[in-house]
Amino acid sequence: ESFQDNLFDYIFKTILIGDSGVGKSNLLSRFVWDKFRHDSKPTIGVEFAYSNTQIDEKLIKTQIWDTAGQERFRAFTSSYYRGALGALLVYDITQRPTFNNLAKWLMEIRDYGDSDMVIALVGNKIDLGHSREVSREEGQSFAEKEGLCFMETSALENLNVGEAFLELITQIYKVTS
Ligand code: GDP
Ligand code: MG
Repeated sequence: ESFQDNLFDYIFKTILIGDSGVGKSNLLSRFVWDKFRHDSKPTIGVEFAYSNTQIDEKLIKTQIWDTAGQERFRAFTSSYYRGALGALLVYDITQRPTFNNLAKWLMEIRDYGDSDMVIALVGNKIDLGHSREVSREEGQSFAEKEGLCFMETSALENLNVGEAFLELITQIYKVTS
């Protein structure tokens, strides 16, 4: 859509965080363009996309930043975090190391991000249930312990993807308005 920025009531910056390969870029492209890629396309530099949402008759424009493979080297610059009101912290339910690394990502978010940033934890790839290494309950209890919203998704099968982003946007709206 070609709304001008001044037609929006709110503009939110959000970021995608988590290990390489967990499906961050595909969650973004599923949510914004309803597209899925079977290959992983590491690009150079940061990319972002926009999505428009309406809550309580307010028009919200959400800018979603995606990493371009820097997570492999943990070489995020502070500009990635700067001004971000929310983060989707993603792990892969079929790769336990990506779940074990969540504590490190939370430390980084809390070091570089604003203290009141909303964080939604997302366990992705639930279409691969036969290879599951992290139970739903484990994800849920980690989220509760850390005070995060929690959802399991599949970017491939488009399960809960819109819901996860909308939950994040709604929580940001609640703390912002
Ligand atoms: P990123 O490195 O976190 O951005 O992850 P990508 O979005 O590039 O995805 C990494 C790989 O996982 C790619 O081969 C994707 O096709 C695959 N992938 C992403 N999401 C899903 C999903 O929900 N289910 C399945 N089965 N594969 C996925
Ligand atoms: Mg990516």
